Amino acid sequence: MHEFNIGQTIVDSVLSELKNIKEPNLKLITTRVVIGKLRSIVPDYLQFAYENLSKDTLLQGSKLEVVSPPLKGTCLQCGWSGELKGSLFECASCGSTRGKLDGGRELYLENLEIEHD
Ligand SMILES: [Zn+2]
Repeated sequence: MHEFNIGQTIVDSVLSELKNIKEPNLKLITTRVVIGKLRSIVPDYLQFAYENLSKDTLLQGSKLEVVSPPLKGTCLQCGWSGELKGSLFECASCGSTRGKLDGGRELYLENLEIEHD
């Protein structure tokens, strides 16, 4: 279950971000992460991993929000490029399945919503 590894990466990055904020009594409300579609995350598993891994840390009780940008690709047949519907390449112009995927492997923190007491 690679969601646990990704969950751990997220929790570690959030903790190091929070360490840089020199304010007492801050409370993390929401962690927003960007995860590319090619990482094949099962969102429920990731939520479960996040909840478990955040126990007894500054993240406890916070919410995880996952944003998956649409996958883009370029057709090797006709040169079309744009957003893809699924996670496999299919040209919207000529229907070819021969294409190059752009991105899709993103994994980074986009935003932390923090409340101060
Ligand atoms: Zn094409």
